[in-house]
Amino acid sequence: KKIVILGGGESGIGTAILAKKNGYDVFLSDKGKIKDKYKEVLKHIEIEWEDEKHTESKIFDADVVMKSPGIPDKAPMIVKLKEKGISVVSEIEFASWFSEVPVIGITGSNGKTTVTNLVQHLLKEGGINSGMGGNIGNSYAKMVAEEMHDWFVLELSSFQLDGIEKFKPHIAILTNITPDHLDRYDYKLENYIASKFRIAENQTEEDYFIYDADDKNITDWLEKNPVRSQKLPFSIEKKIENGAYIENENIVVTINNTKFTMPTSELALQGKHNAKNAMAASMVSQLLRIRKQTIRESMASFQGVEHRLEKVLKINNVLYINDSKATNVNATFYALESMESETVWILGGVDKGNVYDDLLPLVNEKVKAIICLGVDNEKIVSAFGNIVDTMVETTSMSEAVQMAYRLSDKGDNVLLSPACASFDLFENYEDRGRQFKEAVRNL
Ligand code: ADP
Repeated sequence: KKIVILGGGESGIGTAILAKKNGYDVFLSDKGKIKDKYKEVLKHIEIEWEDEKHTESKIFDADVVMKSPGIPDKAPMIVKLKEKGISVVSEIEFASWFSEVPVIGITGSNGKTTVTNLVQHLLKEGGINSGMGGNIGNSYAKMVAEEMHDWFVLELSSFQLDGIEKFKPHIAILTNITPDHLDRYDYKLENYIASKFRIAENQTEEDYFIYDADDKNITDWLEKNPVRSQKLPFSIEKKIENGAYIENENIVVTINNTKFTMPTSELALQGKHNAKNAMAASMVSQLLRIRKQTIRESMASFQGVEHRLEKVLKINNVLYINDSKATNVNATFYALESMESETVWILGGVDKGNVYDDLLPLVNEKVKAIICLGVDNEKIVSAFGNIVDTMVETTSMSEAVQMAYRLSDKGDNVLLSPACASFDLFENYEDRGRQFKEAVRNL
């Protein structure tokens, strides 16, 4: 069988390794430049490839095509392939054909990486041999080829879910749904929601679907489009009989009449959103029968993930927090909500059609100064100009951090939570976060 792999990134290379192992005739094509480290792998496993072009004659000769998640369905090449009746699948779908290993799949608009890392941490501490990957780190296909794990913990983006047919996680988590990436969904929220729900579309009665019961986008959809798997909701607003909720500042998880409780104050990650993340992850741990004491200890010891409300340093009793990964308003909402002191807030970057209304009460209550860090700050200035006393515009990270240093007093927080994409001034959100940390350390 001939497989053509479009895209030579992590998922393309993983697919190449797995396909080769299973006797496929493999050709990999990337319109851009393939990284040297990946070229080395392709050479090593003797795979034919090309980059900076697509040779159509070879591509249309395929029995099946693996499309990397970065390539939109509307790309001319993909449209043509489908017209010719050639099956186009995602790496996630392809890899699942060769694996019986159960999957915990995590999707949502925010919190995927945090929950994925937290679940992996709990499983490791619980003595379960699991591999973590998907949208973060290792490709699923590569891990399947390695045959080393008893469970997989996969972060799944909606783009990865778009290309599935039969793939199903045994345990699915849907953290929340807020508008994002709408450019890939004809600017229709329902298309984006449908894409997220594909995580459950092949599940059966033996599988589990963990979701945020406070999220109206999710609950409305579920009412009209029920899933077949066993539903395990979590909520911070109401009592949940079979699932998880918060009572007297304790997480209470009940699954099939077994109960797990833990004070929220003992969770390593603070804030309401992290209580939700913790509830989702503790349900997984309970389904896998990890000891309650181990779950508690692991929840308390989890180190968090870089660039997500990451505590950087305390200087003169001012805490500097790096939340560079907050590239949308919803993520920043939760960051501001979790601030327990007066806050100097650094935000800005490339606007993604942001609507700031939801943030106004929080800004009123918690923010003493705003530092804009972006090329075009007009929208931010008009949204918050009237409600904060101090508002400054800056054009580099070091300038922004020095300004924050001047504007903060003992006991305050300085929070970088941009609510915007980073590519006006930075390479990506990681670069932005690293520059922040460096500027803080240089103070
Ligand atoms: P994703 O992988 O889905 O982008 P991350 O775990 O990287 O999510 O977190 C992205 C941003 O969202 C961070 O700023 C983080 O603090 C915030 N966040 C984490 N969990 C949640 C949640 N459950 N709801 C809303 N925001 C969250």
